[in-house]
Amino acid sequence: MARRIPEPFRIKMVEPIKQTTGEYRREALQTAGWNPFLLRGEDVYIDLLTDSGTGAMSDRQWAGIMTGDEAYAGSRNFYHLSDTVQEVFGYQYTLPTHQGRGAEQILFPELVKRCQGDRPVFISNYHFDTTKAHVEIAGARAINVLTDKALDTTTAYDWKGDFDLPRLAATIEEVGAANVAGLIITITCNSAGGQPVSMASIRESAALARKHGIPVIIDAARFSENAWFIQQRDPDYANVSVPAIVREMFSHGDMFTMSAKKDALVNIGGLCCFKDDVELFRTVQVRCVAMEGFITYGGLAGRDMEALAIGLKEGMDESYLAYRIGQVAYLGDRLAAGGIPIQTPTGGHAVFVDAKKLLPHIPAEQFPAHALACELYLEGGIRGVEIGSLLLGRNPATGEQEASPFELLRLTIPRRVYTNDHMDYIADCLIDIRARAASIRGLTFEYEPPLLRHFTARLKPV
Ligand SMILES: *Cc1c(COP(=O)(O)O)cnc(C)c1O
Repeated sequence: MARRIPEPFRIKMVEPIKQTTGEYRREALQTAGWNPFLLRGEDVYIDLLTDSGTGAMSDRQWAGIMTGDEAYAGSRNFYHLSDTVQEVFGYQYTLPTHQGRGAEQILFPELVKRCQGDRPVFISNYHFDTTKAHVEIAGARAINVLTDKALDTTTAYDWKGDFDLPRLAATIEEVGAANVAGLIITITCNSAGGQPVSMASIRESAALARKHGIPVIIDAARFSENAWFIQQRDPDYANVSVPAIVREMFSHGDMFTMSAKKDALVNIGGLCCFKDDVELFRTVQVRCVAMEGFITYGGLAGRDMEALAIGLKEGMDESYLAYRIGQVAYLGDRLAAGGIPIQTPTGGHAVFVDAKKLLPHIPAEQFPAHALACELYLEGGIRGVEIGSLLLGRNPATGEQEASPFELLRLTIPRRVYTNDHMDYIADCLIDIRARAASIRGLTFEYEPPLLRHFTARLKPV
């Protein structure tokens, strides 16, 4: 058996988490309207809702927090951050933002303004939810051209985050290059389950965009996890360091937006950076002042920028990445060995359980993956999140509930927070649930909000 990867850190501070009884959890879930989003965080034992802003900072980051320079303009920490961006990514111009969507809201309208055509679109391997929202708020349309290989959860493929390059070329032809406000390369591809984008796909999609004069934006939330996958899976990069791979990935972009709450290992923060386009940088700066904050803080405290500057480099540490990605794979392997159907291969930040396969008796309109999320909370106080028909919602034209092509329970692993013993516990709970899967009931609405219903809906078992 392969050796387990031990955590490459020791624990200097602990945060107690509450262990509860089954009876306590049933009552808590009842009160929350059978919607784990409405649980109190304190009633959750292991929280796998998201990997965004939920990571643990290091002793060095906490030490950095104490050196915060809270000058309104020209904070020392801003210069440290900007120098770090220059060193890590090779980009000259840095704007801090409050988080990833802050970068999106100041950048996209300027790209739309620059666009020659009058029917602007952005094309991406896959737009993240807020990215799509900001594309649309800016008056453009979001088009995804992800490889079909990503849709098949059972067949392993190394690069499920890749562009479908022929479809990318055809889409540019179809809408006309003048209408393409930008090509967005999302690394890793969050919506496909943290699946990596190959260097070849980054290089070729960027080259295609460049040929047509289309700017290339990297959506960089999981930049170091993507670099790690390239080092592990692409023989051409087996002997290249992660920082060198990061430099090469970003050499293909013109600018990037980043949610620093993921690989950059901070609880809040974002970046909007430009390789050399000073004109665009200046127009986005103006928007930054109005919407995020002055150009040397962008909605962050000086101390936040210091923790971020340190986190950008810690996130590229190879022993950390081996542990990080290894822990997600470890949970996936334990589940697969226990007969739980999961998406293969596991991605960088989450394991996806296929609830359609585990609970075939629950129809789409009774939300099998959400039922599984509730059951997992009842079983072990673990909180995951449904990615399926509840999230998809109704057809706006007909009001009918549509069946999502997949019903997945996402178990998202926070960085440096839980140990492999927690992973074992999660796997054991799901394996126990599998034994009684046939008795699990679907759910129906008690209250259905008109929009973004999965956050606030109240349900009950049928
Ligand atoms: C999280 C995320 C965002 C948005 O960032 P926030 O910090 O949540 O605003 C954008 N793109 C991707 C790929 C993300 O994962």
